[in-house]
Amino acid sequence: MEKQGKALVTGAGGFIGHHLVTYLKKQGYWVRGVDLKLPEYGQSDADDFLVLDLRRWESCLQATEGVNDVYALAADMGGMGFISSHHAQILHNNALINIHTLDAARENGVRRYFYTSSACVYPEYRQTEANVIPLKEEDAYPAAPQDAYGWEKLIVERLCHHYHEDYGLATRIVRFHNIFGPLGTWEGGREKAPAAICRKVAFAKLTGDPEIEIWGDGEQTRSFCYVDDCVTGIYKLMCSDYTEPLNLGQDRLVTINELADIVANIAGVKIVKKHVPGPQGVRGRNSDNTRLRQVLGWEPEISLEEGLARTYAWIERQVAAKIQHTERELTLARMGETVALS
Ligand code: NAD
Repeated sequence: MEKQGKALVTGAGGFIGHHLVTYLKKQGYWVRGVDLKLPEYGQSDADDFLVLDLRRWESCLQATEGVNDVYALAADMGGMGFISSHHAQILHNNALINIHTLDAARENGVRRYFYTSSACVYPEYRQTEANVIPLKEEDAYPAAPQDAYGWEKLIVERLCHHYHEDYGLATRIVRFHNIFGPLGTWEGGREKAPAAICRKVAFAKLTGDPEIEIWGDGEQTRSFCYVDDCVTGIYKLMCSDYTEPLNLGQDRLVTINELADIVANIAGVKIVKKHVPGPQGVRGRNSDNTRLRQVLGWEPEISLEEGLARTYAWIERQVAAKIQHTERELTLARMGETVALS
């Protein structure tokens, strides 16, 4: 199959989309990025970057015009705190984005369409134990996804399946399991667990206050996949001819407490965990990578420790800059008060 050509990455202003644009450029593609916003933490490598609202059909037609391949990553999303408290917004916005992007791709004669689904499609009833049985792709049914976010992902998986069957569009569907890395959201409420833990540990280190908050008892489990492995997997799946949903993640299960210990170890700081009430999602979740290995002859290779070391280094720099900025503002405010008083 022809490998180069013109590719569209939606959500190119976001975490994975930004990395994917860079990866596709290295593969020799001409790349168009589309998002509501430009990337926050560095310039996009895209040849063309359009700021568009993909909930609108006309925007989707403009975005997909003249490209061979579409990587559909745009979504209104965030970590557990956001996903568990914005159901109507998430289902409404993401359904519009995906229905319109997929149909515009068909209308414009796109060659291949890549849809980014999530481990959140798996039924809650299979994820009640911390020591969970890893999830196989067929475990998604009978359906009972987690939250509106998971329901929307499952519906669009089916939509892709039917566009393939009924219209011959070559669709690919991936189910990500907790992707992390540098250049992702690390504060503000939409950040995911690895970024939040790195931020809290960096604050502990740089301020000398060892206490970090963990939502729940911290014994909930997940697997975490570094973003470089994620974009490699995306591309391998796009180049395959596999049209069914496929897990993409690591299959090493860790508790959130263990995740915090690994990050503290990387930072070289002693932390005190304070367990506070907060959304935790399912009790345990892990990826069964049997099919991933069969289909791609590959699976993620970067260890959790290595990925976290790279991520922590980046987040510590962001936190240090933030602390410096806040101290400068405080000094200026104090100087202003002194001048006003004198
Ligand atoms: P992200 O939030 O960093 O990126 C998503 C981007 O979509 C954002 O930049 C956002 O501005 C953009 N967007 C939102 N609404 C839009 C609209 N109306 N029009 C145009 N752009 C819009 O998220 P991410 O972590 O890079 O995730 C990328 C994809 O992978 C998403 O579909 C997400 O659901 C899926 N996914 C991610 C993970 C993960 O662990 N990061 C796990 C499972 C699935």
